[in-house]
Amino acid sequence: TGELSGQATTGELGYEGALRPGSLEEFVGQSRVRQQLRLLLDAATMQQRTPDHILLAGPPGLGKTTLSMIVAAELEKPLHQTSGPAIQHAGDLAAVLSALTPGEVLFIDEIHRMARSAEEMLYLAMEDFKIDIMVGKGAGATSIPLEIAPFTLVGATTRAGLLPNPLRDRFGFTAHLEFYADDELESVVTRAARLLEFDIAAAGVSEIARRSRGTPRIANRLLRRVRDYSLVHGVAGGTDAVQAALALYDVDAQGLDRLDREVLRAVVERFGGGPVGLSTLAVSVGEEAETIESVVEPFLVRAGLLSRTPRGRTVTRMGWEHTGIPMPPVS
Ligand code: ATP
Repeated sequence: TGELSGQATTGELGYEGALRPGSLEEFVGQSRVRQQLRLLLDAATMQQRTPDHILLAGPPGLGKTTLSMIVAAELEKPLHQTSGPAIQHAGDLAAVLSALTPGEVLFIDEIHRMARSAEEMLYLAMEDFKIDIMVGKGAGATSIPLEIAPFTLVGATTRAGLLPNPLRDRFGFTAHLEFYADDELESVVTRAARLLEFDIAAAGVSEIARRSRGTPRIANRLLRRVRDYSLVHGVAGGTDAVQAALALYDVDAQGLDRLDREVLRAVVERFGGGPVGLSTLAVSVGEEAETIESVVEPFLVRAGLLSRTPRGRTVTRMGWEHTGIPMPPVS
């Protein structure tokens, strides 16, 4: 995906770190999830036990990594971060689990991409804080049970539906993160501008918020592009700078990026507006189906430009208008 998509790039990690809210109170928006987490954490603290395992589900850039850090900070326990793709064998997971200290928070990003063999080990670890280590091969193979420290798993996934049921069932609480409202994104941008010591007009802030795909990570990233623009061109951080900077990076008035527009165009131009199946659509824009399904579509659906039907994806009237291609009359 492109530079302005929800995906993190390595260059911005330091920058993102500096902008991360450190507590549930500082975390903007998602008020329901915040209340739910607050209750879960407070109850566990009162009873001096580890809280239930937590699953965070939602499109990229909505704050899953940030929330995992906040959970650890609130519990005053260390955080170990890893990701599904890094766990390709049960042994990879065994190494992580056996090194945990009591009460530690284990964050597994993209948990749906973990190896199957590791998943099974994780079930037992989540339930009984135990793992079985296999030694030897074939008929002589035996398993040695190993106790591990009680821990709290925070799993993140772009869609809870991507997880096998036995894994999903072992989370005591699933938080569904929603796209942010414009006023919430305005708070995110205002806060980030203050931390970056960048002087930006209120109109510029709301323009960025409106064009951020409901996603704090994108809002922060657009802010950074606007700051670059205002620095290089020696202009103030107002709407003019915002519009010029975002035009340069192909973000349109509704915040759609290049891939969003490509998907809309493909459905309209190649499939007559749909319905078209996910995998056909993915091939036609040269992207992975999972990216289309969990990054692009949730936003297009929320913006009212695309609808998901049992027969496939269909572009709505508003979606046609967005492409500028006249919608054929319904016969
Ligand atoms: P991914 O799932 O792709 O890792 P994510 O959902 O974990 O994405 P984060 O890395 O937690 O997203 O957040 C991205 C950036 O957005 C962070 O740098 C953080 O500063 C900012 N951010 C996210 N949520 C909030 C929020 N609620 N309030 C303020 N800033 C936020």
